Amino acid sequence: MSKKNKLNLAENPDHFTGLTTGKPANKAAGLKAVKNSLKIISAEVGLVKGISVLNQLNQKGGIDCPGCAWPDPDDERSKLGEYCENGVKAIAEEIGKHALDAAFFAEHSVYELSQLTDYEIGKKGRIAQPMYLAPSASHYSPISWDKALGKIADNLHKLNSPDEAIFYTSGRTSNEAAFLYQLFVRAYGTNNLPDCSNMCHESSGKALSQTLGIGKGSVTLKDFEKAELVLIMGQNPGTNHPRMLNALQKAKRNGAIIISINPLKEAGLMAYNNPQEVGTVFGASTSLSDHYMQIRINGDMALIQALNLLLYRHEKNNPNTVFDHKFINEKTEGFESYLQHLDQLSLDDLIAQTGLSKDSIETVAQVLSNKKRIIACWAMGLTQHKNAVDTIKEVVNLLLLKGSIGKAGAGTCPVRGHSNVQGDRTMGIHEAPSEKLLDSIEQVFHFKPPRKHGFDVVNAIKAMYERKAKVFFAMGGNFLSATPDTLYTAEALSNCDLTVHVSTKLNRSHLIHGKEAIILPCLARTDKDIQNGSEQFVSVENSMGVVHSSKGSLPPISQDLKSEVDIVCSLAQQCHLSADIPWQDYTNNYDLIRDKIEATIPGFDNYNERVRQPSGFYLPNGARNNNYKTSTNKAQFSVAKAEAIKLEAQEYLMMTIRSHDQFNTTIYGLDDRYRGVYNERRVIMMNKKDMALEGLQHLDVVDLYNYTDGQKRVAKNFIVVSYDIPSRCVATYFPEANVLVPISSVAKVSNTPASKSVIIELKKVRG
Ligand code: SF4
Repeated sequence: MSKKNKLNLAENPDHFTGLTTGKPANKAAGLKAVKNSLKIISAEVGLVKGISVLNQLNQKGGIDCPGCAWPDPDDERSKLGEYCENGVKAIAEEIGKHALDAAFFAEHSVYELSQLTDYEIGKKGRIAQPMYLAPSASHYSPISWDKALGKIADNLHKLNSPDEAIFYTSGRTSNEAAFLYQLFVRAYGTNNLPDCSNMCHESSGKALSQTLGIGKGSVTLKDFEKAELVLIMGQNPGTNHPRMLNALQKAKRNGAIIISINPLKEAGLMAYNNPQEVGTVFGASTSLSDHYMQIRINGDMALIQALNLLLYRHEKNNPNTVFDHKFINEKTEGFESYLQHLDQLSLDDLIAQTGLSKDSIETVAQVLSNKKRIIACWAMGLTQHKNAVDTIKEVVNLLLLKGSIGKAGAGTCPVRGHSNVQGDRTMGIHEAPSEKLLDSIEQVFHFKPPRKHGFDVVNAIKAMYERKAKVFFAMGGNFLSATPDTLYTAEALSNCDLTVHVSTKLNRSHLIHGKEAIILPCLARTDKDIQNGSEQFVSVENSMGVVHSSKGSLPPISQDLKSEVDIVCSLAQQCHLSADIPWQDYTNNYDLIRDKIEATIPGFDNYNERVRQPSGFYLPNGARNNNYKTSTNKAQFSVAKAEAIKLEAQEYLMMTIRSHDQFNTTIYGLDDRYRGVYNERRVIMMNKKDMALEGLQHLDVVDLYNYTDGQKRVAKNFIVVSYDIPSRCVATYFPEANVLVPISSVAKVSNTPASKSVIIELKKVRG
């Protein structure tokens, strides 16, 4: 059965799941979140077991939530529960009841499973033993660990060069496993270490490293309590980082102004019904955004530049009242050339790109003009565009003009979407490692790591498509559903001789595979990890650079699972690499791994001692202390032109988004309750006036097309939902709409897929 058939039916269902729509919510969380959480945990896990695990979630010495990377409070953790509704969904999904063993795979062919939706596949359950798909086989069959790892080692040794192998990492991988994984891959001989960062905050990393000398955010959780103003751009915290609403509530209560910039009116940016407060029972909520700027997709660069231009005009009219000249003179570089750049700009041109009114922009500039402690938060709505790096640099320009960095209540806050995506990068998971890291590895492990940079995600897909790479190994994740240009990526994966996935649960990437395929089931975050008779714990790094422990407590769903650390070490031993590394010792005692991390990566002094501290420890962060490790040891102003994406008459700008029942590619359910969309994922949110122009009604069915590079990409059968979104902008969910995102459409410098600004056309199918 060709892969085309395997993809067609699932991606282009001609049956729907029964869409209903209602009024979008104007506040997030509340009793509904509590009810929904209880319903899910009791249905999927059982109330008693579920609550006992939730009581350990994000508690000191407990289990780190496998959801997003929002930090836990350093001090008091909530006794009622230090988690959100989506944390509950992540845990319910991870624990689950169903063990997928040999009998399951004997009963269900790969083709049959590939006809299910991502939601249905994900609900099947946890993989209970290693599975192997032989060439041309229709069903996965059981395989022993030794045989599976042996096959992988043979395939790796058969390659003409280690650069024909790709080693992908998803952001759930712990520090200990990630460190050993990069060590193994480099000892094997390649830097082909693409990771999910390439698709999410790579643009942030590039912009912040160049301007502030560190690719991470500078603020801590406490800073939100001291901020005068919080800017939230291209982010939907109510769904993607729900505990952030606690920090925003504290900021508001301390008098902060919140300005939200987002094409959609998101409930979690409008008001927060804190479920841990009595008032919630009576519907009391905290209003969040003081100014809500419903910007046109990709209008952010122009907006921030317009704000900076207006601030400059205010400064000229009232010298020394808007700009922090002391900070600018002492800590920055490029200020004069930036002002010259602003002098050449047309405010009207910039405003026209935003789709916003001049009044609203001037009002916000006025509000900003006398603020000194500003926090700028952002997520994919800024990072997944062709001009993403320049946009984030423009945000940094605003903070530098205001001297709003390197002090309490101020700074950068790129909010990470996966629990340890930042930690993995810190551990060396990067296709473009620094010379410093490679020198350190050589010094500590006495072998010469490869110096040639490897493939990031987009280049890895191209390499597989062009058969330059023949083995694909994924440490977690759901590569096919997370990546752009689905049919192209499927072709690329199918071109491989071998595809291997280290996974907890079944997902679509297991069903679109190389000539041979292997699934290696690993322990989940909630599972107890016993090695050599003693219990081990792992560590992760959250969005604010806090490294802390995570210790699972549940007996694994089967005795045939291995920890990520054990999988890497066992494979490395099977590969008989020339580098003399005591892999088995590391499996037996994770403290030894941390000792090596301490020796190799700066900032991890006394790692084993400090990670055992109840709240863990903060990694050094120069930008947090006005110590900018740039080429000039100064923070850098940047100059770049804001250019609007031009649309032809029949074209729309599409952004792919998550629903409220989704975490990355994991689909927990079919509802998006904050947006009033229920029981369906093949929807396109569209502006009412645009619908009238297209002769479309609410609930009509359309096909969506993208024609980039002369290729016709189509996503069939999407239901039109009339929605409050700026004209010529539309929104769809991923992974369903990823088939429309061209592999060539990427952000400059970061090479991140531009999934938030895809030019599409619609064609009515039926009313
Ligand atoms: S905010 Fe993020 S890390 Fe915290 S419980 Fe929710 S999903 Fe988990």
